[in-house]
Amino acid sequence: MPDFSPTEYAVPLFVIAVLAEMIWAKFRAPETYEAKDTLVSLAFGLGSTVAGALLGGFALALFIKTYDWRVFDFGPEWWAVWWAWPVCFVLDDLKYYWVHRAGHRIRWMWAAHVNHHSSQHYNLSTALRQTWTGSLTFGFLFAVPLVLLGFHPAMIAICGGFNLIYQFWIHTEAIKRMPRWFEAVMNTPSHHRVHHATNPRYLDRNYAGVFIIWDKLFGTFTPEVDDEPIRYGIVKQLGSFNLLWAVFHEWIGMIADIWRAPWRHKLSYLLREPGWSHDNSRDTSDMIRARWLARTGQDRLPASMSVADRNRIADAGEAA
Ligand SMILES: [Zn+2]
Ligand SMILES: [Zn+2]
Repeated sequence: MPDFSPTEYAVPLFVIAVLAEMIWAKFRAPETYEAKDTLVSLAFGLGSTVAGALLGGFALALFIKTYDWRVFDFGPEWWAVWWAWPVCFVLDDLKYYWVHRAGHRIRWMWAAHVNHHSSQHYNLSTALRQTWTGSLTFGFLFAVPLVLLGFHPAMIAICGGFNLIYQFWIHTEAIKRMPRWFEAVMNTPSHHRVHHATNPRYLDRNYAGVFIIWDKLFGTFTPEVDDEPIRYGIVKQLGSFNLLWAVFHEWIGMIADIWRAPWRHKLSYLLREPGWSHDNSRDTSDMIRARWLARTGQDRLPASMSVADRNRIADAGEAA
């Protein structure tokens, strides 16, 4: 079994790219970087590697066991079956889409994923802002179908590593748009800025890892509009650079909610979307979006209309 972790080899590249972007920002967009914010992001990156090594063993053991039950068999030299690699990469990216979507729509999983979103800045160091508590969400279970299909756990891990490396460069404001064909198929800085935005039109959109086609296929794609400034971060901003608070705030908030809630609502605070409350005292992203749609007159549009078309009409409405 090849012992190869692509992300570890990419670390020097990450460092060089962050430094280069810092120099770009110094001259072109000084507000892009804030020292304390960058330090928190770097600590997240370092800590998530440690947490992964400590907590990832269970997932690996489960995958090795599941591999015995595989439906297809690529043989003992599975790594030599060249076409299995691109197929695995694409399927792993599809898996990433769903794991990521669940990470935004199930509070238990959001408690871990929120870490990636809690910065109010958007730069290459934001990409390194990876969760410490991902293993606690059992998100790795989404990879079980791939193992059952016969892809070796090491092949899936390597594809996942390259997927993460790809996602590094899209965390930047230095690139406005890529060529049209590229924007159509691939996840790009423009598409991913939308994902990190808290503007109502952008909430819970563009979950893609490498291929943006999944969002287009499953109805969660929204293009970036050029004349609306993006507010990055989370709906209720952290307002603190305390690292441990940044890591655990949503876990603490969720447990407190479960503790206080009437018995019949406790499970909902675990499994429903962030912002859900049994007494309607808070806002979910759907509620924020619905209010925005009503404000811009779009709630009178046919339900079948695509999100992209709605956004275009809203733009025209706000401009008028
Ligand atoms: Zn996300
Ligand atoms: Zn991101």
